Amino acid sequence: MDIVELADRLWRGEEPSQKSSPLGHGGPLAEITDSVAFLPNFGNCSVFDTDDGLVMVDTGSIITAQKVHEEIRAWSTKPLHSAIFSHGHIDHVFGVGPFDEEAQTNDWRRPHVIAHRHLPRRFERYLLTAGYNQVINRRQFAVSNLEWPLEYRYPDETYELTHDFAVGSSAFHLQHEKGETDDATVTWFEEQSVLCSGDLFIWNSPNAGNPQKVQRYPLEWANALRRMAALDAQYLLPGHGLPIFGRDRIYQALSETAEYLESLVDQTLALMNEGARLSDTLSSVRAPIHLADRPYLQPFYDEPEFIVRNIWRLYGGWWDGNPATLRPANDRRVASELCELAGGASVLATRAEELLEEGSDEALRLAGHLAEMAWLASPDDEGVQAARQHVFHTLASNATSTMSRGVFRWAERETTGELF
Ligand SMILES: [Zn+2]
Repeated sequence: MDIVELADRLWRGEEPSQKSSPLGHGGPLAEITDSVAFLPNFGNCSVFDTDDGLVMVDTGSIITAQKVHEEIRAWSTKPLHSAIFSHGHIDHVFGVGPFDEEAQTNDWRRPHVIAHRHLPRRFERYLLTAGYNQVINRRQFAVSNLEWPLEYRYPDETYELTHDFAVGSSAFHLQHEKGETDDATVTWFEEQSVLCSGDLFIWNSPNAGNPQKVQRYPLEWANALRRMAALDAQYLLPGHGLPIFGRDRIYQALSETAEYLESLVDQTLALMNEGARLSDTLSSVRAPIHLADRPYLQPFYDEPEFIVRNIWRLYGGWWDGNPATLRPANDRRVASELCELAGGASVLATRAEELLEEGSDEALRLAGHLAEMAWLASPDDEGVQAARQHVFHTLASNATSTMSRGVFRWAERETTGELF
């Protein structure tokens, strides 16, 4: 199936891989329009063939770097002139190496890497938190051998708000945006109406809530999507997932994703402004119903509930409004106290199993609390361990998103010390 047909199936919600691997499609490089190629990858790469060499937008991850180089070389033998990093996440910035080596071997000019000025700062943070990032990414993606990188290809040039440049006769416009990250760059190639969104569009409910990662910017993200929609692009090449072809579809996808984020921000801020607790805010804010069937807004990677928490963190403080959590007792101490009152950890564990049988979303949430408390109070009790594993296994099986599945599976393994 060619990429246009596959992208059409994705648009119609008929592509099952959207659910099983929400961050995307691997596949061969495909020419999208004259001199513009797209390589579905983790993350995607876009390539422009100019009369003074190739320009790439994003370069993929460490594990795909050789493949990216080979695929591009099968399409064009021109030197890589420039690469733009749409942001500094490690699935976008690790493919320059083979092109740097090739330039040295052939005595070509070294590829020129351009990024927003916040991007080097991200690499510095990644070094400060390398251990943490290794743990949370292993947990998030359920990948036991992920090694967090300690060396980065820094950009040769950074910019602040916008950056216009030409390679040969091809003109590129870079626009800084904030959304999933504070170092995002949108690339606009007006000549052929090609828009590279980076991860501001990824064919999923936006990753604006990620439980284990730094602040996201949902309202700024919506503004960025509105600006992109106004460009009236004919080809949208996203950071993950397949391209969108055609002005109407692109306008719809970008503006509806903006509307989705704006709605979550509006609802959350309204409750915050009334003095609501976080817990009640989480129970009442909902993603817009009329967008529920959109294939590009499904909660397969991140979830709207987590976006609400990020909005709370961005506009408020870390405290959730419950006085007991301001200066809390240690979780293990609370669990022991409650188990003792209830007549033992096994009472909570048994009730957790009963709640699993009930099966509603609310019952599953409660089962998580009870199983966790029972295990915190009696971590060596085999019956409690089995109940906790069963509960989090069930929660993982019922989860829609990569984020939830990763955490619940991790808890299942943690019960018996099988953590990676
Ligand atoms: Zn990405």
